[in-house]
Amino acid sequence: MLKIVKYPDLILKKSSEEVRHDDKSLRSLIPHMVETMKKNQGIGLAAPQIGISKKVIIVTEGEEAHAFLNPRIVKQSKEKERDEEGCLSLPGLFMKVSRAKQVEVAAQTIDGAKVRVKARGLGARIFQHEIDHIEGKLIIHRVSPLTRWKLRNQLKNLPR
Ligand SMILES: [Zn+2]
Repeated sequence: MLKIVKYPDLILKKSSEEVRHDDKSLRSLIPHMVETMKKNQGIGLAAPQIGISKKVIIVTEGEEAHAFLNPRIVKQSKEKERDEEGCLSLPGLFMKVSRAKQVEVAAQTIDGAKVRVKARGLGARIFQHEIDHIEGKLIIHRVSPLTRWKLRNQLKNLPR
C-alpha cells in the first residue's frame, strides 16, 4: 500500500482534480501520503504519486510534514536557482533543475482554511516540484532536451 507510482505511469502526466476540504477520503489519504513519503525518505509528495489524481501535496519543513489542498503559485521571484533534484517517481535519477528562489503559494488546509505560504530556498523548490506533479509535470520536463536525451537510457531502465 505504500508503493510509489513510477515513471512512465500515465497518472503522472495528468492534471489532477481539485479537492474539497470536506472530502472524507482525505482523512485517510493524507496520513497515508505522509507515511509513504517518510518510508521512502522523501521530503515532499503529491497524491498522483500514490495513484490518486487529486490536488493534494505534502511538503516537509524541518521535521514537520504539512498537507496542502489545491495549491497554486501566486507569486514567484524572478531570481532563479539551479540545484540538483530527484523524484521518488524517478528512482536514482538526479538532475539540475532551475527554480524560482522564492514563491508564494495559495492553498487550503484540511480544516478548510485558506492560506498563503511564502517559501524560499529548499522549501520553495519542494512546493514547485510538488505543484508540478499535480499539473502532470516531472523534473524531466524541466530540463533541456539535451539533458533529457542524455538520460534516455536511465529513463528506460528505471527500477519498477
Ligand atoms: Zn517528484
